[in-house]
Amino acid sequence: MSKIKVRFAPSPTGPLHIGGARSALFNYLYAVNVQGDLVLRIEDTDLDRSKPEYEQEIIESLLWLGIKWNEGMEVGGSQGPYRQTERVSIYQEYAQHLLDSGQAYYCFCTEEELEQERQELITRGDTPRYLGRCRHLSPEQKAEKIEQGVKPTIRFEVPTNKIYLVDDIVRGRVSFDSSIIGDFIIIKSDGLPTYNFAVVIDDVLMGITHVIRAEEHLSNTPRQLMIYDALNFKTPTFAHISLILGSDRQKMSKRHGATSLIQYREMGYLPEAMFNFLALMGWSPEGEEQLLSPTEIARAFSLDRVSKSPAVFDMDKLNWINQQYIKKLDINELGRKVRPFLDRSPYSEAIKAMDEDKYQLLIQTVRDHLVSLSDISREVGVVFDQLEYEEEALQVLKEEGTVKILQTLVEDFPDSEGPEDIKQYLKAIIKQTGVKPKNVFMPLRSAVSGKVHGPDLPSLICIWGQEETIKRIKQSLQRLNN
Ligand code: GLU
Repeated sequence: MSKIKVRFAPSPTGPLHIGGARSALFNYLYAVNVQGDLVLRIEDTDLDRSKPEYEQEIIESLLWLGIKWNEGMEVGGSQGPYRQTERVSIYQEYAQHLLDSGQAYYCFCTEEELEQERQELITRGDTPRYLGRCRHLSPEQKAEKIEQGVKPTIRFEVPTNKIYLVDDIVRGRVSFDSSIIGDFIIIKSDGLPTYNFAVVIDDVLMGITHVIRAEEHLSNTPRQLMIYDALNFKTPTFAHISLILGSDRQKMSKRHGATSLIQYREMGYLPEAMFNFLALMGWSPEGEEQLLSPTEIARAFSLDRVSKSPAVFDMDKLNWINQQYIKKLDINELGRKVRPFLDRSPYSEAIKAMDEDKYQLLIQTVRDHLVSLSDISREVGVVFDQLEYEEEALQVLKEEGTVKILQTLVEDFPDSEGPEDIKQYLKAIIKQTGVKPKNVFMPLRSAVSGKVHGPDLPSLICIWGQEETIKRIKQSLQRLNN
């Protein structure tokens, strides 16, 4: 059997959407699983909407997610070019072939004529479609139109009353009746191909064996099947993966939150977490385990386990997965990854002034509170913000015995090498005074942070250092005295 080859073929008309990222991912996973190849092709024939910056952004998004391809944009290959606008002569050649064999024809209809036909069909309750007015123009009629300067399109002549079948891996057998499909344009009047035509020519020439793409393209499949047929091309295997819905089970849109992949990077999601999350949207592994590395996912991936029902974008699940990946990250790496977020925070100067050990301790101390990397700027606030008291902390401070224990603590609050030193000091105080641990920790936490909850107290104290800690305790004592 020849090598399995799949492709991801985005149109650079916007940033890479979550749905597009998932399609790219499924193609990638399938390719890795079967040791096939993935091609990246850019479908930019919609000149009004395609932009080079989107092309770059899509490529950057794919690379960020961890998707690699074997052929196509950037990496090259023997079937290039891989940008459709650079392949126009190829499409024209095949269109000519269809013209020559009588399976396509020039159409000179104007926008107004087409619109009129549409309206008439709608009024009759019929499916709007092109009824073939230009199918049988005589050479004289054609010459006359050309003389008038009308730029024709090329239309494919749809076979009448034919049933087209596709055995889709995800959707099963789907049949399409050609009678509801009008002759469709394959080459526009500007000479560029339409999507349904170019996609077939490219998939064939590039040796694509499996077309894995979004369900919204299922309705395009019959037109593509007709082209395969007309040119005697072997059809690939199709797998149309279901839609992604928002939590309210409506089609995912901006209303549900960020829709482009790269926004998730900016929001502080890790690419590995996103990879894991997207893979589980519509595919499920055999076991219960939800946290899987890219390698594990690729090893387990199969199209048979891709669900027919729509996938729901579950933000809580994404957050949970991201948090688990943050917990697992090497601390050095986490420090590097949160740095851009800190640099943009009000604490950038304070962070810059920290030495490396303190910085690492800071990251370690707040790590368990991070759902996304961007949470870092909120979480380090406790260290850098001016001391302000929450109501609950004030209550603790006002409790009997608080002043006394704070005075004892502050008396010779030590300098420390690490959180362990602070722990030992507090233990010694507890032993010496006979006060319950809780009645040492709570007043101290309230006094230094103004809060009753927060990250590990000895670590916080160690980050502040002796001087700042003493200053904070004294400040609280003063407040209690007033
Ligand atoms: N350019 C199409 C899109 O971005 C690709 C469709 C396909 O995969 O056939 O939706």
